[in-house]
Amino acid sequence: MTTTTTRQIVHIEDELCTGCGLCVSPCAEGAIQIIDGKARVIREELCDGAGFCLGVCPTGALTIETRETVAFDHEAVEEHVAEKLRDAIESGKPTYIAQTCYVCGSSEDDRPLLPVRTKGTSTWVCTRCLPQLIHG
Ligand code: SF4
Repeated sequence: MTTTTTRQIVHIEDELCTGCGLCVSPCAEGAIQIIDGKARVIREELCDGAGFCLGVCPTGALTIETRETVAFDHEAVEEHVAEKLRDAIESGKPTYIAQTCYVCGSSEDDRPLLPVRTKGTSTWVCTRCLPQLIHG
């Protein structure tokens, strides 16, 4: 029997989702996929509710809700991520969509990005812009 718990998890508002796919790669757990043109949490045990997908959504389709669901499962995430990586290598498709710094727009392909929270959203900042955020 699967046990459930009350915790935070991503909610996707179907009517607002354009299927652009920007939310897929910020999810380190690989919990979000585009299915039939809409973003979906494919398995709830893969979503930790951290919300790093929220900041990249251009339409506001993503929110965090608190509700009863299965517990987050680290082992399931490790297996899922390894499987995705194997599939990507075999198919020759890229394993990620490059994210950009919210301050200067630099891509993660140019310099490392770090996750930050600002004004109620989760987003990314590059290592060049981070010092000015810290020191003003
Ligand atoms: S970023 Fe927003 S609009 Fe784009 S696929 Fe994800 S939920 Fe849908």
